[in-house]
Amino acid sequence: MIGLIQNKTIYEYDIRSLILAFMLGEKIELTDHVDSIYDFILDVDYKDQEIVMNLYKKGELEDEIQLFGDYENKKIFKNRMKQGIYQLFSKALDKQLPWGTLTGIRPTKIAFDGYEKGESSEEIIHRFQKDYLASEEKARLCTETVQKEKELLKAFPYKEGYSLYIGIPFCPSTCLYCSFTSYSIDQFENIVQDYLEALLKELDFVAKTYAHKELQTMYIGGGTPTSLKEEDLEYLLYEVNKRFPFSKIQEITVEAGRPDSLNFKKLKILKKYGVTRISINPQSMNDKTLKLIGRNHFAQDIKEKFNLARQAGIDNINMDMICGLPEEGMEELSYTLDEIKKLDPESLTVHALAVKRS
Ligand code: SF4
Repeated sequence: MIGLIQNKTIYEYDIRSLILAFMLGEKIELTDHVDSIYDFILDVDYKDQEIVMNLYKKGELEDEIQLFGDYENKKIFKNRMKQGIYQLFSKALDKQLPWGTLTGIRPTKIAFDGYEKGESSEEIIHRFQKDYLASEEKARLCTETVQKEKELLKAFPYKEGYSLYIGIPFCPSTCLYCSFTSYSIDQFENIVQDYLEALLKELDFVAKTYAHKELQTMYIGGGTPTSLKEEDLEYLLYEVNKRFPFSKIQEITVEAGRPDSLNFKKLKILKKYGVTRISINPQSMNDKTLKLIGRNHFAQDIKEKFNLARQAGIDNINMDMICGLPEEGMEELSYTLDEIKKLDPESLTVHALAVKRS
């Protein structure tokens, strides 16, 4: 168990994320005194323009670091703070992290911004290693990924155009790991109409404000838009199409993630309006896991709805899966991959489960 002493909470989230990156699954407890019951205690003392961090191992002082500067300015100071924490734990545990101080979800953004500023790959890699203490291997992976992304983006004059995300915050039930805005469609059916009307008002505003720009891609997600009743789904697509003619948009994706939200009629509606891509998301093909994470369906339902989508003429289907779901290991993961492979979707998106605050 790890103890955390702090007189301000400003960096608590960053401290916790980085400690967990070193010691996955450890419990981190707030405390107000040094005690040998903790394997480690990090004592963070915020003073005027100075932070003193002491690391205790089994109650004995192991190491200390002082950082000077305007720590209230998180934008500027955050990385220095993380470097300090990294230094303390890396030395105490004799461990390096491949991603260094990076604990967020989009490390490629750093490389992307670097290229936009005109930096070379080597300069970006150097910055990854120096500022974020990342390994060269991960830094290269980021630059290579961004180069591929940029190649794909060439087809989209994205700086001149724009993409639109439309959120439908309803689902058949709430998954255990959900961190999105999503409400049970059964429970909140009475507000669906009001929601759609409000959404259309906002879309009117967007259509007017961006009239001079070209809409290139649209993603209707949520939630699960296909949780809507057939007539509501058709109404939504009809109204959206009126404001943003689908025939002019290069890619229109509709999240049809939950098989318990799908039927042939809804799939036909998607096809009729020219939706180019849908996403049917098993997350896992193991029934035991699906039950554990609160999905109201079995793996067999995924297969059936996938085939139904093909019958409805949908020829671009993505599937999402999650690594690290409760009680899953390599065996379960391999099984999920094998089952998805048999269905042969056009793309597969692999997420790593991240347990968020709250
Ligand atoms: S399907 Fe997605 S949005 Fe809906 S409850 Fe599950 S995780 Fe949340």
